[in-house]
Amino acid sequence: MPDARQIALTWKMHEILRSEGFDIFGIAPASPHHEDSQHLSEWISAGKNGAMKFIERNLDKRGDITSLIEGAKSVIVAGLRYYSDDPSAGKDNYFVCRYARVRDYHQVMEEKLDRVQKIIKKEVPGAACRVFCDSGPVTEKAWAVRAGLGWRGRHSMIINKDIGSFFFLGEIVTSAEFLYENASSRDRCGECRLCIDACPTGAICDNRTIDARRCISYLTVEYEGDLPEEFRGKTEKIIFGCDRCQEVCPFNRKAVHYTDKELVPEFPVTSLTRKDWLAMTPEDFKKMFKSSAIKRTGFKIIKRNIDFVNFKSSEKR
Ligand code: SF4
Ligand code: SF4
Repeated sequence: MPDARQIALTWKMHEILRSEGFDIFGIAPASPHHEDSQHLSEWISAGKNGAMKFIERNLDKRGDITSLIEGAKSVIVAGLRYYSDDPSAGKDNYFVCRYARVRDYHQVMEEKLDRVQKIIKKEVPGAACRVFCDSGPVTEKAWAVRAGLGWRGRHSMIINKDIGSFFFLGEIVTSAEFLYENASSRDRCGECRLCIDACPTGAICDNRTIDARRCISYLTVEYEGDLPEEFRGKTEKIIFGCDRCQEVCPFNRKAVHYTDKELVPEFPVTSLTRKDWLAMTPEDFKKMFKSSAIKRTGFKIIKRNIDFVNFKSSEKR
């Protein structure tokens, strides 16, 4: 039976998460889930992580979140909408995906979650907390499902029935105890296969995972080698990321522009024309993207992506 203190702390937490601007959140009890590392290990064995070797490290920890902090009892998972409808690819422009049109989400999410964890520590003296956002050996999507934020769509992203899939995920693993809701979000993909049919490079596998080696998002952001020739002409006007599978998802039809002010970028990447990109120097790049996730990929890779785009055959976006 939860005690009154746990109930009060849970309500307080909801209030704080809401005031930080998180659109969705949930709290799940921390416990080992070895199936997470098992699934990852199968994906890695099939080579589908491409050159992302960091995923191969700490597989045991990925299956046991309680190993990340001493006395871990809870996993708080929070989601922040980032959808925007400003076109980044007009007739004469390149496409940059939506998550890169806002301030670097690692920074924004970590700042918000850091403020939340400070409050937990104040409310529960001696509590241990650790913040994650696309960092550390945390199986974020699996925990988002456990905390009731949504289900894993065929395109492998988490979908929330009310806000769709354009949201960032972040977690706090803590030794504080809360009231755990009986979180469940049923799979609503049904017979739909729109994302699979829309993927330009056939990267979506039948088991709700992505073959990174075929995914334009991975190839244009993470991959450092030459882009595979088999995809020439298929990357449309994309020079960073790819939102295609999310754009066609019926659950994103209701997606609305983000409202969190901390996401507003210092520099709107969508204002850049094709000419601007072609004339850009490494110094311009550094200055323009100093608070953007694009800077992590680097100027050289962006230039490689620009060279790969076949403008004449890329009418779609
Ligand atoms: S991000 Fe693009 S390339 Fe990757 S799975 Fe989705 S549609 Fe395919
Ligand atoms: S497009 Fe259809 S199959 Fe793909 S994630 Fe959305 S609902 Fe599921």
